[in-house]
Amino acid sequence: MKKITGIFCLMMLLGCGAKKSITVAPNGPEGVKGSVIEMNTSDALVASDDVKEGSPSASFSSKERVGEIITFLASDELKGRDSGSDGIDKAASYIEDFFKSNGIAPYFLTYRDTLSNFEQPAFNVVGVIEGNDEQLKKEFIVVGAHYDHIGEISAVNGDAIANGANDNASGTTTVMELARYFSAVKTNKRSIIFALFSAEEKGLLGSIHLAKRLKEQNLNLYAMLNFEMVGVALVDKDYFMYITGYEKSNLAEVSNGYAKEKLIGFLPTAKEFNLYQRSDNYAFHKEFGVPSHTYSTFDFTNFDHYHKVGDESALMDFSHMATIVNKSIPVVEGIANAATKEIKYN
Ligand SMILES: [Zn+2]
Repeated sequence: MKKITGIFCLMMLLGCGAKKSITVAPNGPEGVKGSVIEMNTSDALVASDDVKEGSPSASFSSKERVGEIITFLASDELKGRDSGSDGIDKAASYIEDFFKSNGIAPYFLTYRDTLSNFEQPAFNVVGVIEGNDEQLKKEFIVVGAHYDHIGEISAVNGDAIANGANDNASGTTTVMELARYFSAVKTNKRSIIFALFSAEEKGLLGSIHLAKRLKEQNLNLYAMLNFEMVGVALVDKDYFMYITGYEKSNLAEVSNGYAKEKLIGFLPTAKEFNLYQRSDNYAFHKEFGVPSHTYSTFDFTNFDHYHKVGDESALMDFSHMATIVNKSIPVVEGIANAATKEIKYN
């Protein structure tokens, strides 16, 4: 998430001492259908009795899958994924390899979309899964997250690397896992672009660049769904995620309809701090004028390491993350397959 100053710092101080989160997954293991299971950071259960090979559920995410991806993306080796650095280049190569090995095609000639608005070499990584309906495949959904972070900062106890696990290796992992799922099942009627943005932390530069480039190509964009800071569960809420710009469209209602539960809620602080304008969804709203929102589970009280060296993968809740991926699948699928463009600005 782009830097938030002022009141936010006060909020972070007030947020100290927040209780440990316990995630309850009413639909069973990591969001997959099943019995009621209570999970926390240390003992998520995985039951695979009803997972048949070749069935869509065989392609669902798991805490092991997300754990492997985010552990690499937020490792010290990548040195905080500062845009233009060698560290973020390793992240880009990793995402490219993941796309390639999972059969996700590059959207442009290559996966790398070079930023035209940043002086050092920086790339978005952009893949696509074409829709399976002759007409609807001409319409696109962008599912995105930024994969850059802020690099190295003032050392604390000898650690200067701001690993950016929650911000935003978590969203990146979510988008990669959604891409893997849809590539495996190919159930989407509309085409889906999976975009990992660079230079978000420099001022949404990657998404501004890509939105402009796609607009110049006259892309028929239906909606943009962005994921930011989904590594730690919300506490004491009756929903799993909030969306930024909640009142600006009916996306929350549409999402909950496909999720068949209250997956999305309204977080007042998200509105207070205008998070709608602080992540990559905003570039698409501005360029295309289509519903564009960010899904998140960071509420200013459930994580104390925003833009600090302590934002490490060891603090992420992999079961929660897999739950978010699996609960987002029917939402993205429903939106991709709806007969008409049902998400509308209010
Ligand atoms: Zn950030």
